[in-house]
Amino acid sequence: MRITIDRQAGFCFGVVSAINALEKELKKNDELYCLGDIVHNNKEVERLEQLGLKTVNKQEFERLKDCRIMIRAHGEPPATYLTAKKNNIEIIDATCPMVLKLQKEVRAGYEQMKTTGGQIVIFGKKGHAEVVGLVGQTNNEAIVVSDCGDLDKIDFSRPLHIYSQTTKNSEDYQNIINLIKERHLTGEVFVTDSICKKVSLRAKNIGNFAKTVDCVLFVSGQDSSNGKYLYNLCCKENKNTFFISDVQDISTEELRKFEHIGISGATSTPMWLMKKIEDYVLRELTA
Ligand code: SF4
Repeated sequence: MRITIDRQAGFCFGVVSAINALEKELKKNDELYCLGDIVHNNKEVERLEQLGLKTVNKQEFERLKDCRIMIRAHGEPPATYLTAKKNNIEIIDATCPMVLKLQKEVRAGYEQMKTTGGQIVIFGKKGHAEVVGLVGQTNNEAIVVSDCGDLDKIDFSRPLHIYSQTTKNSEDYQNIINLIKERHLTGEVFVTDSICKKVSLRAKNIGNFAKTVDCVLFVSGQDSSNGKYLYNLCCKENKNTFFISDVQDISTEELRKFEHIGISGATSTPMWLMKKIEDYVLRELTA
């Protein structure tokens, strides 16, 4: 029996730099708030909470005063910065540089669309922090499209500019763009390719990894959109793919059927967790 960890798996640079910044701050101060989970992985959040991190939701944030808070890699809408200023809250801003760039582009696109009576469309998950941050750049006027069922919200007689949440997959984005172009009456459809290259590269690589092993333990938090997407790609290439969040989800009886076990994960899965899974499987199967 052998185990291989997918070396391409693990945090993206946006999450790595947010966590590094957080750990640095926690060394200086015992306590630091973070607006929302720093990463969509409960195990990593629990580890950081033990170091003094306090995760708060939007309602709790609005009640805070005179403290310090971290904005995670997904970014926030302008309203969050205004609330912080009003309540004397110092922001440690760990918004991923690529998300910041996209926010600026959406803001500029919104200003441009205003001059032509156009609309901004965001392809993404409704309520996802990054999408909320992007919609906030448009005075909350952008139309969020999660799937083709949302297309009726668009006025196809007016120009539009579409952007994608950085973690969506390219295939689904292209399908939505094609459907919009088919229905649009004037053809004034502007498209920005805003999918993170790290995510699209992972999508290409994970299938190759899944083919090289007999089964895959895919490690991810239940709430990670990127995790669900990569897990489905893994399943396409290797039907013996198991979605797990931690060791308690592993069936060692099932694993005994396989000679070569692969471990992979989402862009929000820490490498230490994949190593922990490796140690556990080694211990259990060789005992
Ligand atoms: S997935 Fe890409 S855009 Fe999103 S936080 Fe990571 S590096 Fe940044």
